[in-house]
Amino acid sequence: MGIILTNVRKNFGEVGVIHGVSMEIPTGDFAVFVGPSGCGKSTLLRMIAGLEDTTGGSISIEGRDVTDVEPAKREVAMVFQSYALYPHLTVFENMGFSLSLKKTPKARIKEMVHEAARILHLEEHLDKRPSELSGGQRQRVAIGRAIVRQPKVFLFDEPLSNLDAELRVQMRLELARLHKQIGATMIYVTHDQVEAMTLADRIFVLKDGVVKQSGKPLELYDNPDNQFVGGFIGSPA
Ligand code: ADP
Ligand code: MG
Repeated sequence: MGIILTNVRKNFGEVGVIHGVSMEIPTGDFAVFVGPSGCGKSTLLRMIAGLEDTTGGSISIEGRDVTDVEPAKREVAMVFQSYALYPHLTVFENMGFSLSLKKTPKARIKEMVHEAARILHLEEHLDKRPSELSGGQRQRVAIGRAIVRQPKVFLFDEPLSNLDAELRVQMRLELARLHKQIGATMIYVTHDQVEAMTLADRIFVLKDGVVKQSGKPLELYDNPDNQFVGGFIGSPA
């Protein structure tokens, strides 16, 4: 079970950007894709979300082949950077928006949004607009929008890259807490080795559209398989 990618490939036109990626992410794991800019992290994540089709290979989520399933039916939720919030809607409305699109009853939306706000410590801010919030609070609202959908899998694409260094460290701790608390499978994309090392149960190091090595953070740190992984996250020899 969990998420299984089998020989996944992606071409944009003639250009191959993902060259046969296979991996298994157990249910409930916090997986991190790390690698330099342009190595294919976002493309791979977007394929898992269904926002990009696959050129080859297959993707399964909790035992279901979703390779050709539309995004809304994959039970995954992508967390975008906080500037994707609707500025004219309140925090409550931002978090409940996807549920109202699905015609969820108002009482149920209220229940779900309040539950997410409790987890994210946003209860006092539900009537505010995004412009009245701090950067960290806005990022929490963006995460709240995913939580209310109760997805099996949370997908994060460099969600903290807009925040200053201090806030990034704080949000990292909050993400780790969130993962413990809700226990869903999470995949987190970053080019930041420290973020990867501190958040991950399992790291996948990507370069030029292939997985160079995967394993627990300390395994990779202590025993990098190759020069690239060693240079990128390994301990100084
Ligand atoms: P990362 O997220 O690791 O920085 P991306 O997945 O965004 O990398 O990009 C991987 C490669 O695919 C890059 O060379 C990028 O230019 C290319 N690419 C990404 N999206 C598209 C697209 N829609 N059309 C053409 N090329 C793309
Ligand atoms: Mg990217």
